[in-house]
Amino acid sequence: MTARLVLNSVMKRFGKTIALDHIDLTVDAGSYCVLLGPSGCGKTTLLNILGGFADPEAGSVMIGEREMRGVPPAKRPTTTVFQDYALFPHMNLIDNVAFGLRMRGVGRRERQEKARAMLEMVGLPDAGNRRPAALSGGQRQRVALARALAVDPDVLLLDEPLGALDLNLRRSMQEELKNIQRRVGATFVHVTHDQEEAMAIADQIVVMNKGRIEDNGPPARVYRVPSTRFTASFLGEMNFLPAICGQASVDCSLGSIAADTAGFETGEEVWLCLRPEHFCLNKAGGIGQFEIVNLTFQGPVLRAEARKTDDPDLVIVARLADIGTLVVGDTIGLDLDLETPVLIAKEEMA
Ligand code: ATP
Repeated sequence: MTARLVLNSVMKRFGKTIALDHIDLTVDAGSYCVLLGPSGCGKTTLLNILGGFADPEAGSVMIGEREMRGVPPAKRPTTTVFQDYALFPHMNLIDNVAFGLRMRGVGRRERQEKARAMLEMVGLPDAGNRRPAALSGGQRQRVALARALAVDPDVLLLDEPLGALDLNLRRSMQEELKNIQRRVGATFVHVTHDQEEAMAIADQIVVMNKGRIEDNGPPARVYRVPSTRFTASFLGEMNFLPAICGQASVDCSLGSIAADTAGFETGEEVWLCLRPEHFCLNKAGGIGQFEIVNLTFQGPVLRAEARKTDDPDLVIVARLADIGTLVVGDTIGLDLDLETPVLIAKEEMA
């Protein structure tokens, strides 16, 4: 089973702190939604409101066709995987995973069978008799996931589920989570502040900042065409160049750049947004000559900070193919390699 989530104008305050400020959000049934944002932006509060662990002071929270306000966690079609996994240390894994089923009055045999099937699904088929203390962090994470899924929730809520894992394990668990979500078909809502994790795993990324939703959409759209400056700089690196709108181009310190200026006035001041990967080496220097002032090796690419030789105030960040010879102090010609850059209204940058 699965369910659609619809939040309308949800407000939550803690004393004077506004944790959630008029949140409107729809998550389609069966999709993988990631709540992404810096510490304190309200992600966990939003998750807790979905799970019934916090009460909004205004607004509506619909899961499927039901209003959830006032419904206790155990009566909701949700389960939560907490950041610390919260496994019962004195129970073996089968009993841990079967716990929710026991609370729901499911008979012993049926719940043990289900628990075994869930442990198998998360890649721990033979570990049922072990205790949580005998597991690695990654294995505990899997058990917590199996326990949450054992009761067939319509909606699974995950609070920084991979936060305690090392980077390699984190990346492989991301793939597994996504696969498991596809298999069980439930709606997943996953909190993280790791932008790479969000982009790798989500069908829908909800970017939050100071209790508000800054942007909301599929990862590729949110990355390529961010709605606000906050999203543009939170999701990967971005160069912001002051520019003046023309008819189908903008004028900036790199010259005249073709751009879709629909929605802006001719002569309007905007920010031209260029990702580091939008720059490429070009001997003729389509947008000028640059001196490399900083260089970081990033495996297949180099991250270069480069100063325009005829405009020393302009320093851009470029991600360049590693041609094996570049060093700090080199002068390189650069060009742009993109179809249409994103423009953001100047007032957005306040
Ligand atoms: P993190 O990534 O650090 O967990 P978050 O995005 O999940 O952050 P929340 O935990 O939802 O953020 O907190 C949002 C705001 O509400 C913060 O300013 C936080 O200090 C405040 N807050 C959250 N819970 C409480 C509480 N129980 N009492 C008082 N203030 C709280």
